[in-house]
Amino acid sequence: MQLFHKYAEELADICTPVVPFPILRARVALVNNKLAEALDIPVDELSTAKLLPSLFGDDGELQAHSVAQKYGGHQFGQWNPQLGDGRGLLLGEVKAQSGQFFDLHLKGAGPTPYSRHADGRAVLRSTIREYLAGEALHALGIPSSRSLCLIRSDEPVIRETLERGAMMIRVCESHLRFGHFEYYFHTDQHEQLQNLFSFAFEHHFADTIAAHPEQSPHAAMLQEIVSSTAAMIAKWQAYGFNHGVMNTDNMSIHGITFDFGPYAFLDDFIPNYVCNRSDHSGRYAFDQQPSIGLWNLNALAHAFSPYLDIKEIKAILMTYEDTLVNDYQALIRQRLGLSMQAETPDKMYQSDEQKLSHEIDVLIGEWMQILQTEKADMHVAFRTLSKHLLSIRDNNYNALSDNFIQADRVRSWCVNYQEIQQALLDLNQKSWEKIQEDMLGVNPKYVLRNHLAQEAIAAAEDDDFSLCEAFLTVLTSPFEEHPDYERFSKPPATQDKGIALSCSS
Ligand code: AMP
Ligand code: MG
Ligand code: MG
Repeated sequence: MQLFHKYAEELADICTPVVPFPILRARVALVNNKLAEALDIPVDELSTAKLLPSLFGDDGELQAHSVAQKYGGHQFGQWNPQLGDGRGLLLGEVKAQSGQFFDLHLKGAGPTPYSRHADGRAVLRSTIREYLAGEALHALGIPSSRSLCLIRSDEPVIRETLERGAMMIRVCESHLRFGHFEYYFHTDQHEQLQNLFSFAFEHHFADTIAAHPEQSPHAAMLQEIVSSTAAMIAKWQAYGFNHGVMNTDNMSIHGITFDFGPYAFLDDFIPNYVCNRSDHSGRYAFDQQPSIGLWNLNALAHAFSPYLDIKEIKAILMTYEDTLVNDYQALIRQRLGLSMQAETPDKMYQSDEQKLSHEIDVLIGEWMQILQTEKADMHVAFRTLSKHLLSIRDNNYNALSDNFIQADRVRSWCVNYQEIQQALLDLNQKSWEKIQEDMLGVNPKYVLRNHLAQEAIAAAEDDDFSLCEAFLTVLTSPFEEHPDYERFSKPPATQDKGIALSCSS
């Protein structure tokens, strides 16, 4: 594969060359063939026989210019300058078929100058979780870092218990975090901060800057980060994803889901659910994510303050809420088959359109209330509604309400739904069948449930990755039926619900 080293060369001042530290009896356990293809990387280069010498051999191509990056971050609200790639190395960049560049980053590569007495390793459990989540999010249309391959080993690693070490190669547009910019700003390293911005402008925001000649490059870049972060979090909320550790060192400047450890997709719809067992105050609870996103952007914006007027920064940050709310509303409407088409206003008096739009919002509010009050499984609820859409059309509301405790309430909801849906259909000239087809294409049947991830991990600990592979099959095409893997679509048993995990990884 052809590897570039733009970060290592152009920002040599703010990173440190480190080579990966071999791991006991390493072998490749999972390869992401589709991602490799998109990146123009021949899959055979990811085989144990070729990959390991390239990573660990004295003249290995992948370790020739590997570096550890320095950054800082706000962790649970506290500024911490003592961060950096403590266990990951930027191997270099590859050029994808699309012409875009992507970082290859080896996680679990051993100690670096930023390890702070920790071992520099990652455990098999957390690398599998990261691999699965990247693919699951991507398949749902939620931007995320992804894994190119996973390397298992027999290296003992001490966490809460003794675990197996592992490594993975992570892929994303770049590993630039909010915390990179924060660090060079708060430590008064003006030249380094300037270089970091120049690098970002040239390699990551050139199109954005060109598209906004009315704005300064700093303003265009900040606006893009605000918009993409809001759009990402809108998707998390619409699909029930709880990141778990939204520290600013885990926030990507590309608005992609990044550095997720104890994450969870909600099982029961509990808005204030906290997936991270170490998060005692619930700072990163599911329903706090939108406001924490803004808190984090505000922290990032400090690094832009030498270049932008405070009024301009505020104006940019003010766009966050609108983007998030509009995107979230559009996604939920889509999931419920209640989208209003763009051309609608021409066909209606504006007041009628506003009335219908308001009725849709009330209907959605009631749906979410039903899910919340009876702690319904969020994913099953949306999929079940999609499945029974034609029954609702035919006045058979029991098909849906039988799945709920508050059956009467659901039947009343169905009456309103049917009426509003019919009004929308007349307006949009669509059929119930088409709406159902669209809904089945946005409401996944298969979701990354923590109890299933645990099961796949347990098998992998015993050297069996077939469950990981099977789970990946359904997670990468979550809207399709997979009769062989029907059981992966079932919600967890009560004792397996809402598994909260610690940060240890
Ligand atoms: P994380 O919780 O993975 O986002 O990591 C927070 C910080 O701790 C980052 O600077 C990591 O590089 C560092 N870190 C986490 N785990 C380890 C480890 N096992 N060894 C060295 N550094 C680590
Ligand atoms: Mg991190
Ligand atoms: Mg991490």
